[in-house]
Amino acid sequence: MAGNKRTRAALLALVAGISCGHLVDPVLPGDAEQFVAPSVYTQWWAMVEQCSGLRGRLEDVQWFSVPGQLSNPDNSSEPVEGYWSAASNRIVLNSDDTLDGRIVRHEMLHALVRVKGHPRSAFLQSCGGIVSCPPACVSDAGPPPAPDPATPRVAPAAIEVTSEVSVISPSSSTQASFGTFTIFAHNPFPHPIVVLLSKSPGVDIARTYGYGIIRTVSGGAVSSADLAFDIGATYFAAGETKRDMFDLAIVPIASPSVGTFPGIGRDGIALPPETYSFRGDYGGHSAPDITTILNR
Ligand SMILES: [Zn+2]
Repeated sequence: MAGNKRTRAALLALVAGISCGHLVDPVLPGDAEQFVAPSVYTQWWAMVEQCSGLRGRLEDVQWFSVPGQLSNPDNSSEPVEGYWSAASNRIVLNSDDTLDGRIVRHEMLHALVRVKGHPRSAFLQSCGGIVSCPPACVSDAGPPPAPDPATPRVAPAAIEVTSEVSVISPSSSTQASFGTFTIFAHNPFPHPIVVLLSKSPGVDIARTYGYGIIRTVSGGAVSSADLAFDIGATYFAAGETKRDMFDLAIVPIASPSVGTFPGIGRDGIALPPETYSFRGDYGGHSAPDITTILNR
């Protein structure tokens, strides 16, 4: 079981976007290596184009990875998973994160938005849950407008929760297959609501979306949950649907695990091909289970 791993990783994770306005790129670390975008980037780029409503050319982005720990070029004491720089439309990632969907899509969103910082409208609203937005990103985005104090408070049970599994990259003999497990939370009311989420034991931040994935024949399971770093995660406009996307790598490993396959980052879910039962929830209110076969 992944248990608190995701929670801890999420608390520690920092992803920085480097502001536009640099006339030259920050100097690359000496051990940086340029790499060719893996095929799954095509689908990830399309997902970010769709959620942001922006269009751009993936081919115009230069990709680099660094084997050690990257620092924010604007603040060398701040470790980051990656950064985008405007001068040559360059994305630099920790080599552990080059196949971490939410982190890669975060940097892709920078390359599409092309403005300074982490606008709330893009990183937490239109592409919220599709791209990572750890505490430094949430803080940069600034707080959402305070809801009307009269907004009804509801329990998670009042939310309609559904989920979807999709394999987004075709099988390939040379590259891993990838997929996503997306959980949708829908406000069924014709008025705004605030959902009262509870906290996991030992964690001071409310828990939002969680997953449990069980390998049905050979056994094994992974589970984890995200946290409400952004208070906006608890506010729903009338009829609004929010979502949270967990990335899957379908790879030939011994058993389901989190963060173990090279490149998928600390939160990436690695699943050997087989039949799985997926359960997603929002605030502990579960979507109907999905049983599906994942093939390479
Ligand atoms: Zn960023």
